[in-house]
Amino acid sequence: MKNYRIAVIPGDGIGIEVMREGIKVLESVSQLTGDLQFSFDHYDWSCEYYAKNGVMMPKDGLKRLEAYDAILLGAVGYPGVPDHISLRELLLEIRQGFDQYINLRPIKLLPHVQCPVIGQTPETVDMVFIRENTEGEYAGAGGIFRETSPEACAVQSSIFTRRTTEKVMRYAFELARKRGKYHKLTSVTKSNALNYSMVFWDHIFDELASEYADVQTEQCHVDAMAMYMIQRPQDFDVVVASNLFGDILTDLGAALQGGLGFAAGANINPERKYPSMFEPVHGSAPQIAGRGIANPMAMIWTVKMMLDFLGHESYGECVLSAMMKVLADPNAITPDLGGKGTTASVGDAICRQLHML
Ligand code: ATP
Ligand code: MG
Repeated sequence: MKNYRIAVIPGDGIGIEVMREGIKVLESVSQLTGDLQFSFDHYDWSCEYYAKNGVMMPKDGLKRLEAYDAILLGAVGYPGVPDHISLRELLLEIRQGFDQYINLRPIKLLPHVQCPVIGQTPETVDMVFIRENTEGEYAGAGGIFRETSPEACAVQSSIFTRRTTEKVMRYAFELARKRGKYHKLTSVTKSNALNYSMVFWDHIFDELASEYADVQTEQCHVDAMAMYMIQRPQDFDVVVASNLFGDILTDLGAALQGGLGFAAGANINPERKYPSMFEPVHGSAPQIAGRGIANPMAMIWTVKMMLDFLGHESYGECVLSAMMKVLADPNAITPDLGGKGTTASVGDAICRQLHML
């Protein structure tokens, strides 16, 4: 019997609502398999916590999370708390503090989900993004200088270390080698305009490419990449990108896979020195929060990624199969997909399907 300790941070708004369904699914997996157990500790670190305490999480927050096997996060952010506070003080703090330098984002159109681009199918939209997750454009380096004077200027510097860039690319090469599509890795760059950071990025990519002769490689400027993802998504297999480029392109990817309701993500520390964190891409969505209509698929897919990471890929596949079964019933799905289902009814339906597999 394997027992995993999971730290749960539901966060705000729909984060709290979808988290319940994610946990439900893990409990079903546990009942079904009989050899996996999860114990969940909940942490109420959120914007509400911030309103009461003036901080997003306690000073010893990272210390308290350190010993867990994984962290599950719903979503943080709420009107009244600036995004740069909720993001920086919780998400970025955990991502950087636990050296979760890989952000993993599957972009896959599931059967029965409508793609906004005509003609695309589950066969054509199926790629994985590896986004650098701790430095680059989001390193937080720079400043606002002489803000009140007419000569005011702001500087936001990117930091690309060889150490992290190389590790991120190596992870991407290994995944391209392992994934059974084209064994192809696309590097997103912009070295025609960013003459230091992206030229450096390209050099490291070229160096590694010679080590992975079995992986097909290509380099693509970020602007062109945005176009190609719409025009010919079928050409992409594994994609590696910097923090900012990856952030933007994966939201484009979310649209391709049917919206934020399907966008799952993982923040990984591959060395397993620290826990990895699994979170859907969407935010707390205050506009729909409290109505029980948020689509829990992204959260449940995120849970599947956690199972994969813990070494239980076959159970992860079961979760994805159960999701696909539920998607086949147009009445079962949530209103964002045109259905009449609720967050809870979709979670229940997925659990039922799991028990029938
Ligand atoms: P935050 O400030 O926390 O990012 P937000 O309002 O930007 O919150 P997002 O999650 O980024 O919220 O989503 C924007 C919109 O997309 C939401 O208002 C909602 O309409 C839709 N949306 C996002 N996630 C979901 C979901 N899981 N199910 C249904 N609709 C969603
Ligand atoms: Mg948002």
